[in-house]
Amino acid sequence: MALVNEHFLKLSDNYLFADIAKKVNAYKVSHPKERVISLGIGDVTQPLCPAVIEAMHKAVDEMAVKATFRGYGPERGYDFLREAIVKNDFLPRGIHIDPNEVFVNDGAKSDTGNIQEILRWDNSIGVTDPIYPVYIDSNVMIGRAGVMENGKWSNVNYMPCTAENHFIPQIPDHRVDMIYLCYPNNPTGTVLPKEELRKWVNYAIHNESIILYDAAYEAYIQDDSIPHSIYEIRGARKVAIEFHSYSKTAGFTGVRCGYTIIPKEVMATTLDGKEKVSLNHLWDRRQSTKFNGTSYISQRAAEAIYTPEGKEQVKETIKYYMDNARIMHSALTRLGFDVYGGVNAPYLWVKTPDNTPSWKFFEEMLFGASVVCTPGVGFGPSGEGYIRLTSFGDRADCEEAMQRLEKWLKK
Ligand SMILES: *Cc1c(COP(=O)(O)O)cnc(C)c1O
Repeated sequence: MALVNEHFLKLSDNYLFADIAKKVNAYKVSHPKERVISLGIGDVTQPLCPAVIEAMHKAVDEMAVKATFRGYGPERGYDFLREAIVKNDFLPRGIHIDPNEVFVNDGAKSDTGNIQEILRWDNSIGVTDPIYPVYIDSNVMIGRAGVMENGKWSNVNYMPCTAENHFIPQIPDHRVDMIYLCYPNNPTGTVLPKEELRKWVNYAIHNESIILYDAAYEAYIQDDSIPHSIYEIRGARKVAIEFHSYSKTAGFTGVRCGYTIIPKEVMATTLDGKEKVSLNHLWDRRQSTKFNGTSYISQRAAEAIYTPEGKEQVKETIKYYMDNARIMHSALTRLGFDVYGGVNAPYLWVKTPDNTPSWKFFEEMLFGASVVCTPGVGFGPSGEGYIRLTSFGDRADCEEAMQRLEKWLKK
């Protein structure tokens, strides 16, 4: 008799965005004349840039010719892309990464979810709260998160990030083995100054912890003093694994490509304490068994982002989204909301008026203005009393959504 992995049964079926879709659909059925504007889901809307499209066409044509056809690729990714990553994303910041420390993947969700496999099931974990749900759920599946009690997993250290602490997570006063950090942050849109990130690196060195650093929104940083990579901090090469994605950087949510950096120095210890094992080696071993690599076409598409034209075009799109963010930020502030994020990230994190619960405010906004947000509590207990708005929409929709909110709130 085959037995099920019961850890999966601890996960709730209610996926946040499925819940939202259900409520929005019910609203649409009862209000067929209203055009609903969604500022809820975190998907991009602008098409791929011309440099990327051109590279993809070229790669497709190569596949049609015997001499240039490509079959199985290297699991770590093609050299041309790994070298472009090292040269463009790290060297200009004074960071030396070896191409063999780069693992090209099909996006950051896969690797942020899978990385925990190479660490023992009984390591303790810590997350900032609210948080991207993949980090916790992937640990639930292997039994590392414990059980759900009063809205929290029993074996997870939650580090609240709220307006009260200016969204700066407090360093734990005890040892946590695996720490997930995401900056710029989804969902709060806030960033971590260099001196705060340095505290985490020092903590991890002191406790021999591993930091799992999600830099998916790095390209949205506008303020020059904010680190783009954790490796800008001295010592981080010993303790940090960093995840990147072209999804938000260049609209690759449908193309699929990203990469993970695992420096050779990052080690984990065997239970008897006698041996230190290189996680770069272990991840390579894991990937070569379980991962097929990313398609040649996607990797050529990603490479094109690093050409002069590609860089310029990607920058344009990011500017478009960040202009949306600015428009929303100033409109919401004018309407009297406390607004966070939206300056170095495409997300705005908005305090609900009078501490209205997130889901209640979500419904009020839907019924009052036909505008969809994401209830903050869906990202963790400290998200209660907030909503998330994304700036990934069309300009006209962003502007109209703000006008509708104004009309609704002035009623
Ligand atoms: C969107 C997102 C990712 C990227 O996901 P992909 O799998 O690369 O599309 C990773 N981390 C966070 C926090 C995100 O919001």
